[in-house]
Amino acid sequence: MGDGHLRVAHGRLRVARRLGLFLFRRVGRPVPRSEVHGVHKILVAEDEPVIADSLVRGLREEGYLVELAPDGTTAQRELLRCEWDLVILDWWLPGVTGYDVLRQFREAGRSTPTLFLTARDGVAERVRALDAGADDYLCKPFDFDELLARVRALLRRRGPMEGTTLHYADLSLDLATQRVKRAGRAIELTAKEYSLLLYLLRNPERVLSRTLLYEQVWGDYYDGTSNTIEVHIMELRRKLEAAGDRLIQTVRGRGYQLVARSDSAS
Ligand code: CA
Repeated sequence: MGDGHLRVAHGRLRVARRLGLFLFRRVGRPVPRSEVHGVHKILVAEDEPVIADSLVRGLREEGYLVELAPDGTTAQRELLRCEWDLVILDWWLPGVTGYDVLRQFREAGRSTPTLFLTARDGVAERVRALDAGADDYLCKPFDFDELLARVRALLRRRGPMEGTTLHYADLSLDLATQRVKRAGRAIELTAKEYSLLLYLLRNPERVLSRTLLYEQVWGDYYDGTSNTIEVHIMELRRKLEAAGDRLIQTVRGRGYQLVARSDSAS
């Protein structure tokens, strides 16, 4: 990690402090395997850039898979696009309010745990949010450690995801044991290779850019020069292809795609 990144991080920290936010910590800290939650996918719906950026970055540093919805309409679409383990939802979002997003989501019979972010003095908002089906709430400005504790509590309440296995073609990944198999054959992966494969398996057949992979798996900015991703993809392919055809395709100029065919440029 270069000095430039740290300077940016410290600049953001000053901004966050000025706003009464204490969201940054352990910038760039490597995530040990025991903390790679991988299994848990969190949607953050927040429109204030400094808070959104801090939340996404901080949660990724904790090893969660995180995506951002900067407005209510995107949040609605993302909630229906796939299954999330947790939603962090700001009350005031452009387009559709967080309150309406949650109300409609619950009316559709979906029970994904939801943590509401509200204004400090918004007692009425908090009551309405809980009545609409929020599982917990946090008032702004909040301490990042408290947010993490609430996230862990909500995920615990949801229960362990034991026995949940992701499948694609002849590939399987057991979220509880972190075991990966291809055509019934066990494949040993490093922590980072596992996280990378998990992200690909969470988004099968979707073209994933290097920038996105770098942000999601490494929790860091991609400056366009590092070959870290190529090196990890190459190693992952070598291990997976020992048991079958190519599954991770290169989509020239765009990124990578987990897809079971061998006719793409790679
Ligand atoms: Ca807002």
